[in-house]
Amino acid sequence: MRIEKIELFHVAMPLISPWRTAYGEDHVIESVLVAMHAQGEVGWGEAGPLATPTYSPEYAAGVFHTMKSWLAPCLIGKDIRTGQELGALLDWVKGNPFAKAGLDMAWWDLSARQAGRPLCTHLGGSSAPISVGADFGICDSIQQLVTSVAGAVAAGFPRVKLKIREGWDLAVVQAVRREFPSLTMHVDCNGGYRLDDRRLFEALDELGLEMIEQPLAHDDLLDHAQLQSALQTPICLDESITGTSKARKAIEIGACRYVNIKPGRVGGMSNAIAIHDLCQDKSIPCWVGSMLESAIGASQCLALGTLPGFTYPADMFTAGVLYAEDIGSPEIGLSAPGTVEPSSLPGIGVRPDPARLAARTLSQASI
Ligand SMILES: [Mg+2]
Repeated sequence: MRIEKIELFHVAMPLISPWRTAYGEDHVIESVLVAMHAQGEVGWGEAGPLATPTYSPEYAAGVFHTMKSWLAPCLIGKDIRTGQELGALLDWVKGNPFAKAGLDMAWWDLSARQAGRPLCTHLGGSSAPISVGADFGICDSIQQLVTSVAGAVAAGFPRVKLKIREGWDLAVVQAVRREFPSLTMHVDCNGGYRLDDRRLFEALDELGLEMIEQPLAHDDLLDHAQLQSALQTPICLDESITGTSKARKAIEIGACRYVNIKPGRVGGMSNAIAIHDLCQDKSIPCWVGSMLESAIGASQCLALGTLPGFTYPADMFTAGVLYAEDIGSPEIGLSAPGTVEPSSLPGIGVRPDPARLAARTLSQASI
């Protein structure tokens, strides 16, 4: 299909409650929504690297500039038939996976809408519901966290993820484990520790966690391999896997036994599928992560999560959890306890609500 126009919307979406992790505290989530036009149809994507370069080197205002100045212009007028062709057109720009991903995901949605198919089956996945977990950032007190986890367990979520950082780690995880001895749970360190913290990891290793997510630096593989060799608990890499080549290297050197796949972080849906396939080939289970996207980006993640290698419940925030009013419509809801159903409409089945999009837009560009 020949790409006729690309619109970019740098948006700021205020959270109901602050999201606290090892890398900082977010009150507002910024992302870039992409509308890609061809033959009377519009596909939507979302690049959600956060407002600041704290999760990765990219940030929303920079992604908006990179897309507007460098990436989007080289797609206009091009006849793009596959995700690989789109990737090849963007390949001359080094790095910048989130910026590339926003365009890639808009192309995938456009391609599915033009084929008249839901994105889930268009990607090679299924139309079956996916399993989703409950995630908890750093809270004001351990008691507050234990009460929230109890709510998630009662609501039927199949697993729980706890964000940890220095000062909010071992005692917190031990307290939750005491209350819920058989709960499937894991911790996410967001790169907040070093190899010197070996004693903490040995103590966590005793708590029957499903995995320890991204314990060490965001760009590291070697130290993770060394730590993994000393632990029974699988290490899961998130921030470190920025593309297919990084995934291959991580698996080859034994840096992880789980992979968190976020289409934004790995450069888009085509790379996400390639990493999923690689993990399946190497018997590494994977699961879909979240960048706290609107329902636009979350629907892309939901479609991806229907592929067969995603065996651990996804990070997925449904309507009313993050945002009082989601930009995307319809919002995503639970179809059963701990379960979300992909849309049966063509593409992702979600579009921005025009009034909410206008109210949340900081900058806009048309290429
Ligand atoms: Mg993570």
